[in-house]
Amino acid sequence: MSTLRFNALKETLNRKNVEVNEPARRSDIFGKNVFNKPSMRQHLTKQAYNSVIDAMENGTKISREVADHISTGMKEWSIQNGATHYTHWFQPLTGATAEKHDAFFELEMDGTVIEKFGGGQLVQQEPDASSFPNGGIRNTFEARGYTAWDPTSPAFIMGTTLCIPTVFIAYTGEALDYKTPLLRSLQTIDQAATAVCKYFDKNVTKTIATLGWEQEYFLIDSALADSRPDIQLAGRTLLGHSSAKGQQLDDHYFGAIPSRVLNYMRDMETECMLVGIPVKTRHNEVAPNQFELAPIFEEANLAVDHNSLLMDVMRKVALRHNFKVLFHEKPFAGINGSGKHNNWSLATDTGVNLLSPGSTPMKNLQFLTFFINTIKAVHDHEELIRATIASASNDHRLGANEAPPAIISVFIGSQLTKVLDELEKVTDGKLSPEEKTDLKLNVVGKIPELILDNTDRNRTSPFAFTGNKFELRAVGSTANCANPMTVLNAIVAQQLIEFKEEVDTLINDKKLKKDEAIFNVLREYIKKSKKIRFEGDGYGQAWEKEATKRGLSNNKTTPGALKAKVSKKTIKLFEDLKIMSKVETELRYEIEVEEYALRIQIEGRILGDIARNHVIPTAVKYQNRLIENVVGLKEIYGKEFKKVAKEQMILIEEISEHIEKINKGITKMTEARKKANNAKNAEATADQYCEKVKPYFDEIRYHCDKLELLVDDEMWPLTKYRELLFTR
Ligand code: ADP
Ligand code: MG
Repeated sequence: MSTLRFNALKETLNRKNVEVNEPARRSDIFGKNVFNKPSMRQHLTKQAYNSVIDAMENGTKISREVADHISTGMKEWSIQNGATHYTHWFQPLTGATAEKHDAFFELEMDGTVIEKFGGGQLVQQEPDASSFPNGGIRNTFEARGYTAWDPTSPAFIMGTTLCIPTVFIAYTGEALDYKTPLLRSLQTIDQAATAVCKYFDKNVTKTIATLGWEQEYFLIDSALADSRPDIQLAGRTLLGHSSAKGQQLDDHYFGAIPSRVLNYMRDMETECMLVGIPVKTRHNEVAPNQFELAPIFEEANLAVDHNSLLMDVMRKVALRHNFKVLFHEKPFAGINGSGKHNNWSLATDTGVNLLSPGSTPMKNLQFLTFFINTIKAVHDHEELIRATIASASNDHRLGANEAPPAIISVFIGSQLTKVLDELEKVTDGKLSPEEKTDLKLNVVGKIPELILDNTDRNRTSPFAFTGNKFELRAVGSTANCANPMTVLNAIVAQQLIEFKEEVDTLINDKKLKKDEAIFNVLREYIKKSKKIRFEGDGYGQAWEKEATKRGLSNNKTTPGALKAKVSKKTIKLFEDLKIMSKVETELRYEIEVEEYALRIQIEGRILGDIARNHVIPTAVKYQNRLIENVVGLKEIYGKEFKKVAKEQMILIEEISEHIEKINKGITKMTEARKKANNAKNAEATADQYCEKVKPYFDEIRYHCDKLELLVDDEMWPLTKYRELLFTR
């Protein structure tokens, strides 16, 4: 056994649980390190406090003078709570979070030290944008960018650093982060949804999108993880024969959480509580060493920040417990991968969840309005939704039997299907009093009871209605939720704007009553969006055929899927709603296409290295041992040696065959990479990596995994699946 593998196993087996200090009551520490409303009230002047609240709730601008007051209060609070530095905390398009720490203290001209943090430092900062992805803007525009305070997401302290959530924008004005378009989309859906709400309740003045994510992940002992170059560099195994026992017995899902893991979770959740992430549920997932964590849902911008922060916290706390967190969508072949369900809904400032049926027919008509408009929006933009969840790592999951397929469809359950079927029969134009009464009493009025009874959950649907929210299940576990949330908000906003125009036209021109007009428009939407609805098994082959017949897209790879991000339709959608300019949309596409190629390139290099420098030499060594054995047998048995050396000789040949396949595969893959790197543009490079480079991965892996089964376990250099997944 290689020393690395041996030591890693030994270290893992000798691990002790790390002690955790957990507060008796979580509520005692919740938000303790957050500059939230209570701390603001304590540390800000009344004017400053009101100004922040106004900015949070109504998006009003904060004057420079007030910003100075706020920064003073924020600084005092954070120093009292142990902060020595501050940073603008943002989410560049690399998929990680970024920070640049500055100390609070500054030197005066006369050499005295003062604590300084003014309104200027709070509101705006200039990290160097040239090393963050900017999709070519660098070449045509100015490289520099700045970060600007987002008062809707409260500042918090991590360790000894005050973190101020910010947006990240190029000097030429283009958004270079995830947050900026998300904030614009939230404003858009607020306006569009509030306008529609007024049909039902004049008191509604604001609508917010809500998000509750569910984060899946794997935990692997850090020594074991570090013993594998592929896990270390790519976050997933690129080879490794499956363990004799995997997840077949379903014993992990129902099992107790192992105590070492539980200690990690308690510690990590305590940290989450301190920074205000409202974590709520934790449990084992299907695969061995796979787990899930979900919070109480929040306003979408805050929820997105909290998910990014959570991933940071999880990585950080894992170090203390000698774990490595794998967020990759498919760390291990043959067992389940990880996703991040995005539960989405809309809530009004009057406290109503617009995707939850109410107690009166009118409230239920409101529910139906938002419900059907969402379905129609998904119908019209299914390809964009697929594009927004596309990544090199999520490709392993989508359509790979345990995960939602690459085809987007909507599941609503049999009861609501019946309701929509009824609504489809609504008379064109004016409705008779009898029909209206019937609709109110027997169709719309029955919805709440129907939903309560509705227990048929479909786990194979990528976009499912789950009683009071929609659940987008196809999002990958590494993803930043801002992407899918921006798209969902945008398409539903556009749909609601269209809906309002159509209803108003029927009211004004056709003189229909309000509810008649609404029923009429909804009826047409139900008809038009029928093909997106699917209640059957989303994992089955039959659905793929059926979906093709229906004309739904089925983009199985990222480069194929991403193209919808720059279609005329998408560019127009974001431009019309002022969420992203054409340049912003295109630069994102460019960045994602580039990132795809880079990821496959890196994986190709790692695989080439492991296969040629670890696997082949080991196979040769073992083959030599077999040869020695055969030579020895020949010495003893003379001409008769074949009788006793037959099987050894078969093994020798088999090993040679695998070595040949691996070596040739790597050579061809390397040639394909060279060609891909020289393709005419980023898009063509990504296409080639997908079509010409990636296919070699499976072939090379296949032969490496076969060798793993042939070669003496003592000699095998790489920690095996069984050891990675079951050593505790
Ligand atoms: P499940 O059966 O999938 O576990 P839950 O009701 O426990 O369903 O909710 C799962 C996720 O949905 C949680 O993260 C929760 O916060 C979120 N969620 C619940 N209601 C809403 C809502 N109105 N808007 C957004 N997310 C929600
Ligand atoms: Mg779920």
